Amino acid sequence: MRVGVVGGGAVGLATAWYLKRMGADPFVVESRAVGSGCSWGNGGWVCPAISTPLPTPALTWRSLLRTMRPDGPLYIRPSAVPELASWLLRFRSRCTQEAYRRGLRALASLNAVTMERFGEMEANGVAFEFARAGILFAFRDLAKAATKQAEVAEVAAAAAIGDGGGVSHRALDRAETYEREPLLRPGFERGLFVESERHLRPDTLTAGVAKALRAGGSKIHEGVAVTGFETDDGKTVRALATTVGAIDADAVVLAAGAETGALAALAGFAIPLTAGKGYSVTVDDPRNQLRQPLYLGDANVGATPFKGTLRFFGTMELSGINRRLDPRRVRAIRRAVVRDVDIPEAKSGGREWVGMRPMVPDTLPVVGKLPSRDNVYVNTGHQMLGVTLSASTGWATAQLVVEGRSELDLTPFSPCRFRPS
Ligand SMILES: Cc1cc2nc3c(=O)[nH]c(=O)nc-3n(C[C@H](O)[C@H](O)[C@H](O)COP(=O)(O)OP(=O)(O)OC[C@H]3O[C@@H](n4cnc5c(N)ncnc54)[C@H](O)[C@@H]3O)c2cc1C
Repeated sequence: MRVGVVGGGAVGLATAWYLKRMGADPFVVESRAVGSGCSWGNGGWVCPAISTPLPTPALTWRSLLRTMRPDGPLYIRPSAVPELASWLLRFRSRCTQEAYRRGLRALASLNAVTMERFGEMEANGVAFEFARAGILFAFRDLAKAATKQAEVAEVAAAAAIGDGGGVSHRALDRAETYEREPLLRPGFERGLFVESERHLRPDTLTAGVAKALRAGGSKIHEGVAVTGFETDDGKTVRALATTVGAIDADAVVLAAGAETGALAALAGFAIPLTAGKGYSVTVDDPRNQLRQPLYLGDANVGATPFKGTLRFFGTMELSGINRRLDPRRVRAIRRAVVRDVDIPEAKSGGREWVGMRPMVPDTLPVVGKLPSRDNVYVNTGHQMLGVTLSASTGWATAQLVVEGRSELDLTPFSPCRFRPS
């Protein structure tokens, strides 16, 4: 079975890799370069313990309106509000305890296989930088520390119910927090160390999977955009229409990140996808290096040490689907890092980057077959968790395409949840 995977990010590539492993004949079509989308400059955290839906019961219209500040951690650009209005209404309707708990359990069910799937990729020829250092959360504010601790405890409980197991975390006092990360500046009161989390360098993951796919004989078309779908009967796609002509396929997986919505619409189905933009700064050969990934809980900024490189990142900006880099938002991240950590380059050094996280209103991945076509599947909507969930959703999607069903219950992720009622 020839399966065309649209999108060469972490999610599309993992899907193609599992398709190949399950006996299909996948090829990837990527409009730019492999791994150059949101999968490039992200934090690289593989973080089941903080895998939660973003709409929470604590979010109110009032708190959302406060997000109009261009230097705040969450920012809704006022000029984008008309375009985003229906998305925001749907997001707000999910801010209930029940929806949050349901989403949390659904994410835990995917994460039950996350580490195993990455291990499988590593053991079968995919080479990438993958570390086992845990993640340190550090807080000046005691209330914020308590909230994060409760959140992680809830995820750990859900993981245990779902047999995901393995989320181990420990609260730290002031001294223990500084012992874990001596680069923290004074004023931190509490820490939370989540030992079970891992991190990988995302560009090595996408390059590693692409290399393994090519070595196995799968074609990756770079610089080729999918522009539509050719069908004989309007229902079954037989070829992808692309900027270089038609490419035959027996089935299609749309994994084009935040841009998947436009492709799904061309296949006759509307998915309410928008971009949750985030920013990062990557410093090569930093003068100081962190001992492990660090989350600055008061500023909502993360930082990851890679081999020879340090990256700090953060913010969630809703401003529509575009790659515009807003320098005010990068400055806000820099200010937080300068205030909280001894990283001399944070003030002005490093490479600045913006990425579009694919986001639907309930912020759960969208994995399943489109009801509008017989052979078009989708794997997207991974919000802040696209690295973490790439292997598990890639595996589940491949099972669905090849075997017609997945071992995991994919009902919470079905695109049909967006079918107009
Ligand atoms: C600042 C930041 C930090 C983050 N940190 C983490 C983290 O620590 N851990 C984590 O799990 N997640 C993190 N994320 C989220 C993660 O980066 C994303 O969820 C993930 O990269 C999405 O992967 P993707 O493959 O779906 O999309 P992408 O990587 O964007 O890939 C989609 C690809 O599709 C291509 N494409 C689009 N349209 C077409 C078309 N018509 N034809 C062909 N190709 C097309 C694009 O060029 C692109 O390369 C972070 C995100 C940001 C912004």
